[in-house]
This record gives sequence, C-alpha cells and structure tokens, in this order.
Amino acid sequence: MKFCSNCANPLVYSVPPGDQLARHHCAACGMVHYQNPRIITCTVPVWKNRILLCKRAIEPRLGYWTLPGGFMENGETMAQGALRETWEEACFRPTLRQLLAIVDLPQYDQVHMFYLADMENDQFAITPESSAIELFAAEEIPWQSLSFRTVEAALKHYVQHQHLQGPLPLLETTIPPH
Ligand SMILES: [Zn+2]
Repeated sequence: MKFCSNCANPLVYSVPPGDQLARHHCAACGMVHYQNPRIITCTVPVWKNRILLCKRAIEPRLGYWTLPGGFMENGETMAQGALRETWEEACFRPTLRQLLAIVDLPQYDQVHMFYLADMENDQFAITPESSAIELFAAEEIPWQSLSFRTVEAALKHYVQHQHLQGPLPLLETTIPPH
C-alpha cells in the first residue's frame, strides 16, 4: 500500500497517534488504512458418509484436492459465503448442519471456517474452479494430495468424529508456520 485512497498522497508506515501498532496512514489527511485478517469460509459436504472434494483448477495449489470454500465477501454472513463458494466451485446447495472447525492461520493473516454440510443428493458439476469433483469414503481421502493444511485439519477432525450421534465437537486449532 503506497498511496492514500482518500487523498492520493503517499502513505507512511509507522504507529499512528494514539495507536499501538504500526499501520499505513496518511500524513496529509490523517486517514489510517487498517489491514486486518480475512475469513475463508468453507463447507465439508457429506453424502451418505462420503465427503465431497474438488480438484483445484486454479492457483494456488492447482491440481490438489480441496473442500469448497473461499474468501468471505462484504455484506454476507459466513454461512452465506460458504454456500456461495460451494455453488461457485461445485454447483450444488447443501444444507449446513453445524460449524465444524475454526482454524487460525496467523502467519497468513487468515481464519478458515468449515461448516459440516449435508447434501440433498449426489448431484454436482465441475466449474472453471474445479477440474474434477468426487465423493470419498474416509479411507479413500487423498491425504497426500490435499490443497492446504487447514483442509487437512478439518477433514481429520470430521473423520475422527463422524461416527458420533448428535452434534460433533467443534475443532479450534492453529496451524503453526512451516
Ligand atoms: Zn490521505
């Protein structure tokens, strides 16, 4: 970030008056340009004990298997974002059952949220974002070809608890840096 979006003057990076952290701010108009973590909202779609995974058709991690999800948009709820991303990547609308996992990724300034989601049927379709979509039983999950460690954490948690009756425990975890 180099220029102020309010007045177009150059920004400085230092602790603004009255603040505790260094931020981009504008010496000309005084506007502070805050940058905060972003939320990635995802589903763990399930059909008859099988989990739907999408093969990524886009970078990053092109060709790796992932759960449907993406950056939350302004004006939507986390649940709406998870359903929108699932539609954009796999063309179906599941029913969200519960929040399954909250995975902090402080080294990337992100929080990844995963909803367990029940599919109404086994209808889905590939999209420009997914080159393949398949349903995997727990023992078939391609653990060596998963897109992100957050996805791996959510899937492991689901597989470990899927046999339980009633609500599954919520996973709250942090992925450490490599
Ligand atoms: Zn300014």
